[in-house]
Amino acid sequence: HADIAMYKIKHTSRNDYLFYRHELQVMSTFRSEVEQRLHVALREEAFELYFQPMVNVAGGIVAAEGLLRWHDEKLGWVGPQEFIPVAEECGLIVEIGQWVLRQTSLLISQHLDWFTEGKLRYISINISPRQFSQPHFVAQVLEIIEEFTFPHSYLRLEITEGVAMENINSAIYIMNALIVHELFFMLDDFGSGYSSLSYLHQLPLKSVKIDRSFVSKIDQNTDNQVIVEAIIYISQHFSLECVVEGLETSEEYTYFHEKDVAAIQGFHFFKPLPRGAFVTLLSSLG
Ligand code: C2E
Ligand code: MG
Ligand code: MG
Ligand code: MG
Repeated sequence: HADIAMYKIKHTSRNDYLFYRHELQVMSTFRSEVEQRLHVALREEAFELYFQPMVNVAGGIVAAEGLLRWHDEKLGWVGPQEFIPVAEECGLIVEIGQWVLRQTSLLISQHLDWFTEGKLRYISINISPRQFSQPHFVAQVLEIIEEFTFPHSYLRLEITEGVAMENINSAIYIMNALIVHELFFMLDDFGSGYSSLSYLHQLPLKSVKIDRSFVSKIDQNTDNQVIVEAIIYISQHFSLECVVEGLETSEEYTYFHEKDVAAIQGFHFFKPLPRGAFVTLLSSLG
């Protein structure tokens, strides 16, 4: 019996090993394929920027977030969760990020009336950690936004806690260098990583986005209610706006009716929309 048991262990682990090795190969093939295709995508402008409206507690549009979409001829649709980490690792994120910034600045400068007529307060875009910690990040951002004419406060930059963790003092320094140009920051996915409440008052932030994981089924989950209420309370104290991410149901919405949150983002209201549909939507608002 011992022999049989030993035989099974060896066999299973060998199979597991082969399977694992196979998985790794598939993963690294996919990775290098994605990396190759990302170069092509940049060259051939295969990216698209979608915009997801955010609403106030009454349900009226107040802002939007720009989100990358990529359809590749060979790979089909590849989601940002898949290609952003690859782009981050190989450094292409810097160029991709510049493209996102330029596209958003162009859209804002073409639709200043949205902002002056009170249809939108800002459009935010995501800045990845590698992009943020690049040596000339501030100069590059300023150079791109200066290509266009618009009040910079119409654009906001979303960063995650990851950028602060590496070196909080340099993060503060970089942020302030852009804040003097009226470019403000939002802390994205708050609570999802190695969150520290101390970031909320150390970093010069305008708003904090409460991670989707706390919002999902909040009407049924008293633990998450306590966490979210604590984040809202702390944010008020530090004069930070709260944004709720990933709200999907009317029950979750009901929970936030009486809460002091500046904006809600989620499929319950809007999915990310292609640029054309977003422009049509905003133009249709009274
Ligand atoms: P994120 O910045 O936290 O963006 C919000 C994500 O949640 C988006 O996913 C959005 O489509 C999704 N979402 C919004 N409402 C709901 C909802 O009600 N339910 C669910 N389940 N999801 C919802 P997406 O577009 O797939 O982007 C994923 C992540 O990829 C983003 O998370 C962001 O970290 C990154 N990303 C997207 N575009 C860019 C970009 O231009 N630059 C950088 N650096 N990262 C980007
Ligand atoms: Mg974001
Ligand atoms: Mg987010
Ligand atoms: Mg999120």
